[in-house]
Amino acid sequence: MNLPELGWTERERQLFEPYRAEGLLPARVAVAYGATFRVYLEDEETLADVPGRMRHEAQSRRDLPAVGDWVAVQWPSRQERATIQHILPRTSLFSRKVAGQETTEQILAANVNVAFLVAGLDRDFSIRRLERYLAMTWESGARPVIVLNKADLADDLETCRAEVAGIAGGVPVHTISSKLGSGIEELFPYLQLGTTVALLGSSGVGKSTLINRLVGQERQLTRDVREKDSRGRHTTTHRELVPLPGGALLIDTPGMRELQLWTADEGVKEAFDDVAALAEGCYFRDCAHDTEPKCAVKAAVEDGRLAPDRLESYRKIQAELRHLATRQDALAQQTEKKQTRTVHRAVRRMPSKR
Ligand code: GDP
Ligand code: ZN
Repeated sequence: MNLPELGWTERERQLFEPYRAEGLLPARVAVAYGATFRVYLEDEETLADVPGRMRHEAQSRRDLPAVGDWVAVQWPSRQERATIQHILPRTSLFSRKVAGQETTEQILAANVNVAFLVAGLDRDFSIRRLERYLAMTWESGARPVIVLNKADLADDLETCRAEVAGIAGGVPVHTISSKLGSGIEELFPYLQLGTTVALLGSSGVGKSTLINRLVGQERQLTRDVREKDSRGRHTTTHRELVPLPGGALLIDTPGMRELQLWTADEGVKEAFDDVAALAEGCYFRDCAHDTEPKCAVKAAVEDGRLAPDRLESYRKIQAELRHLATRQDALAQQTEKKQTRTVHRAVRRMPSKR
């Protein structure tokens, strides 16, 4: 693939200029295998490592490459792996907290321009889930597009559509059936050269079926390509950056397909801008819209201007975010301690002046 087919635009060209002057090459991260990455360069690809310096200086996972990142690589010998020297500033970033004792952030994909939020119009349809995916996407910096799949199974298509319009806040909504292939063409305008897209949605909503439609053949065939490596052996290459017929690039990683947990703060405000606007009228600045007196949000529920479900899911999400923030604070304190120790050690190691 050439650079424009990899999603390279004028923005990247400008950001890359200083690195070009250093003799580095532009590449896009296609697969992450822990500390090693498969990167695509103009009409070439290679494995690439991250130098120790970058790993040590990284304050968080965000300072390390992720699938979708534009990077500047050094690649002096085609017989050897490349080295990733710099990561270009991102336009968007999807991440999730990893469940466990410590809250760690897992970076799932960078530089997604358009996120198709796929929901199924069958019995599993949940407007609340869609709200969460919207919040998550606003938080990431990507542009959301709602895709209501399984139109052929909808009991009451118009009611569903009206419900979605009520929370979409201007985000485009498309109704399709991946199985029948109807409505797919409505998505084509988003799939132009230079655009990077990803599909988000719960398991079973039809993401794989839709991807096969968009790719134009079974994704499995394009996903694992048998190739000869540099020594002539047959190897199977797993692909997570998939070119689509319109010229767009699809980021399809297992993590993105399964993305369900999320952290969103700004995102929640945008996805719930109706609640946020009402909250301006609350008597208490930090009103939780629960038992507080003179609460404008509860008043709106009482006189029917705001759906009780909507307030309920807003409060649930707020509670989750507060819980997460507490854990992140604890983690930040630990990291700070660790850094202070590192600095002390480095100072001890410095040669004393004579
Ligand atoms: P994923 O888990 O989101 O990747 O979902 P899949 O693509 O695997 O689809 C889950 C199930 O839904 C499969 O049995 C599909 O055949 C079915 N499915 C997907 N899209 C449609 C659709 O538009 N209509 C109907 N009736 N079934 C669909
Ligand atoms: Zn209130």
